[in-house]
Amino acid sequence: MATYRLFLLLPFALLLAASPGVWAQAAKTPPAPAREPDPLKVRFETQDVANFWRAFDADAAGAPGNAFATLYWQPATPGTRILLEKNGLPNADSLRAVVRRRRADYLRIRAGSEQIASAVPACRATYLALKNLYPAATFPPVIFGVGTFGVGGNAQAVGLLLSTEMNAPADMAPLAAHEAVHLQQNIPYKYRILLEQCLIEGGADFVAELISGRIGKTEPYEYARGREKQLWQEFTRDQNLGENDSFANWLYGGERPAGRPADLGYYIGYQICKAYYTRAADKRRAVHDILNIADCRQFLQQSHYADQFR
Ligand SMILES: [Zn+2]
Repeated sequence: MATYRLFLLLPFALLLAASPGVWAQAAKTPPAPAREPDPLKVRFETQDVANFWRAFDADAAGAPGNAFATLYWQPATPGTRILLEKNGLPNADSLRAVVRRRRADYLRIRAGSEQIASAVPACRATYLALKNLYPAATFPPVIFGVGTFGVGGNAQAVGLLLSTEMNAPADMAPLAAHEAVHLQQNIPYKYRILLEQCLIEGGADFVAELISGRIGKTEPYEYARGREKQLWQEFTRDQNLGENDSFANWLYGGERPAGRPADLGYYIGYQICKAYYTRAADKRRAVHDILNIADCRQFLQQSHYADQFR
């Protein structure tokens, strides 16, 4: 399950954006909006979030019927509908059941969620920075929604979906940056191995940090401090695992030893990209190369990241 997801999660979204043939098959999926080349014109949609809290209050006040259906689900943008589906919700009744059961959790994140518009300037600033570093960058709409604590962010053909129940406004910019970087990546699945997927994720974190000043999810980086050599040796053992092997030790959760955080593969990919960037005389060219890794094994060699552990 986990490995199946690895190579489909992001590439599928990109494929949808790129291929009319796939669109013909996915007739129910709304068409991809044109990407916006000007960061100042990118749309950030917050109406779904406001609608969720109207529904939340109406439900608590004993409104007849299902307020989450009429006030939130039915008028939701296609992006938020996808977010709800990705949370495993078949319909508004299932959403209402979760919200009622986890009412205390929703009350805890309510203030941040309702202030989501305050995150928009910082998100837009990261897009301006990305445009400066990589003039070819284009940007999808950003859609903020409320799910059921299952999906933090997701790049889809309709836009970037960012959930406000899992991300405080102050944490949105690095997340929006990471997902936007994914949409610029042109990294063919030449070998379909762990190294490739780690460079995609770690490269997104690296460029996201350049443009937002932060990495969204820092647990792998904190865990790695003082363990750099040991992790590299472990990764060297696993880097050629193919897409049918388990990546659980490195990416996207799954069974791991106690105390080992998920997504250490992000850290590994980040370090390789950082080594490549640090050595490069032309930093803009280096960013271009990180976004367009044609051969992950060759890129690792060119980074010289492994040299320090020999
Ligand atoms: Zn990612």
